[in-house]
Amino acid sequence: MVGKKEATPSVVSDATLKPTHTKKKKPRKTNVTQFAPLVEQGQWPIIVQHSQSKGRHAVAKEDLSAGTVICQERAATLVVSTPCVSEFCHRCVGSLLKAQLLQQRVSCPACAKTTYCSSACQKADAARHVLECPIVPKLTDIATKHDINVDLLRLTLSLIVRRVLEERRAKMAKEEVTDAPIAPWWCINELALHPQVFDKNWVKCVAAAAQDMSEILPESLATSAPKLVELACRINTNAHSLSDDDEKTADTAFGLFPMGSLFFKHSCAPNCHFTADRGILTYRTIKPIKAGEELLVSHIELFQPRSTRKQELLNTKQIRCDCSRCRVPLRKSVDRFLDGVLCEKCHVGVYLAESEFPEIAKDAHPVENGASANGSKAEEKQDTKAVDTKSEDVVDDSKTLASKDGEQGDEKTEEEKQAAEQDAKAREELLKKECRCDNCGHVKKLIEVEMIRIQVQRDYQQIFQFVQSKNHGATITYFRLFIDRYQKGRLLHPYHVHLVNAHLPLLTAYKTLGDYASCLPIIKHVIDIYESSNIVAPLRHEFVELYAELGVILSALAIANRAEGNGRVHRGGEVLEKRYKREALEAYRKAYEVCRICLGEQSAKTVELKKKARV
Ligand SMILES: [Zn+2]
Ligand SMILES: [Zn+2]
Ligand SMILES: [Zn+2]
Ligand SMILES: [Zn+2]
Repeated sequence: MVGKKEATPSVVSDATLKPTHTKKKKPRKTNVTQFAPLVEQGQWPIIVQHSQSKGRHAVAKEDLSAGTVICQERAATLVVSTPCVSEFCHRCVGSLLKAQLLQQRVSCPACAKTTYCSSACQKADAARHVLECPIVPKLTDIATKHDINVDLLRLTLSLIVRRVLEERRAKMAKEEVTDAPIAPWWCINELALHPQVFDKNWVKCVAAAAQDMSEILPESLATSAPKLVELACRINTNAHSLSDDDEKTADTAFGLFPMGSLFFKHSCAPNCHFTADRGILTYRTIKPIKAGEELLVSHIELFQPRSTRKQELLNTKQIRCDCSRCRVPLRKSVDRFLDGVLCEKCHVGVYLAESEFPEIAKDAHPVENGASANGSKAEEKQDTKAVDTKSEDVVDDSKTLASKDGEQGDEKTEEEKQAAEQDAKAREELLKKECRCDNCGHVKKLIEVEMIRIQVQRDYQQIFQFVQSKNHGATITYFRLFIDRYQKGRLLHPYHVHLVNAHLPLLTAYKTLGDYASCLPIIKHVIDIYESSNIVAPLRHEFVELYAELGVILSALAIANRAEGNGRVHRGGEVLEKRYKREALEAYRKAYEVCRICLGEQSAKTVELKKKARV
């Protein structure tokens, strides 16, 4: 990195970048009224409001049934990801393969890299693309030089172009209101930004790249380097990754949808869901919601342990999750099972850290960092441990840097000694710690429980190579062994995320080999786990996939039994065929019912399932 250090602090200390929970409550409060016209324009049944505890958030304006559209917006900026540039339309993200078959594919003659599914899409994008066209090719070099993702720079450029277009009062906005509105530029400045949690080196690289980028921007797009860094950080926190129509390729494109990001907060127990289609993001309710109830969406996979979710949210969205699901003490939450090591005595409960047991926590470790022995405090501490460690790391890092700048030499070895001492102390502490079964109270060393967790993780990673190399035989052998060892051997709770996930490669492998009889109990088991755990709301897309998969397997079994029945007069086959057919129809109906709620009646998938379900 070539000393662009001054750019980093200027981002952090920029007056507009204050974290949400500071004294500056007043301006935020008035801000929410700005959203009313947008909500009105979209005719969405929501109210964007502000409260001391929640900050800005959206609530239902009236009682809403499941499947109600509560917001719909076209991307303020959207780029097809670099590996996919020649596969998807640069405006609507439609497949270019289909367009090619219809001979409607068109490319920008100047850069030859920007391709559209039709001249209509090209025309709609013309005013925008003409501004970015000469600059995009230069971004690759800048990104390579500073080792950052070129798509981040492309998105940043595309955002500036949008601002300029809006300033020029180009026709763009007017024209596009016909399908879904685009957020005005000021919304982008409202988006969340927590520069303090970004990786410092990453921010340095972005700052250096922004400097180079600001130098190649023509006067019409002129933007200062710090502003570019700010935009890049906002993008990094708020952009959505989009997948293609069939959801076969993830990260087809990246888009910024400011209104939804501003209105709806994240929750690991959401009551709404969003889907992207042709560059438009639609938010729908997935539960009946009462007037005044907060509207929440999830940005992560829900079937994951609490610590994994927290880390992922922090890394990808810079969110410190404080949702209703994360707030419940672990001991009372289904979350404890998702990385749960089963009690070796009762085989029902799982081992939890002693801090999860308020009645004994104070006696167990009286001098634990001087923490209060108060129950809920102790729980909270445990929960946010992973997160805190990270931010502490950053602080420590900066301290080290500061002292290095001042004095060198002896300081360092002294610090190293201290660190080594602390390490030894931490190890000793860890070895002393104990875990407790939440059901029968059986006590086990924490380190032993942790070692099981590590072993599971390692085993899973090891055998996953067979999935990657598409070795179906080995996949079946080893995933069966994995499940036998950890499920039948009663080492892990049946809801343990690796145990549940281990069923999916097994399912795919059997399916590929045409062994549908082996698929059936597996898919039924996974559905049973999802339904009984209640971690994922019953009207979310996960259930569409699961029920549809069950339908596919049952249909295949029906066909297989018909073949058998025809060959030799086989009455049993006929009976089975009828049963499988009936059950397949039932499964497709369930999939369709969920699909029309979370994806809408018009979506391609809903239409397809409707046909299969014969409704
Ligand atoms: Zn298109
Ligand atoms: Zn071009
Ligand atoms: Zn949460
Ligand atoms: Zn037990």
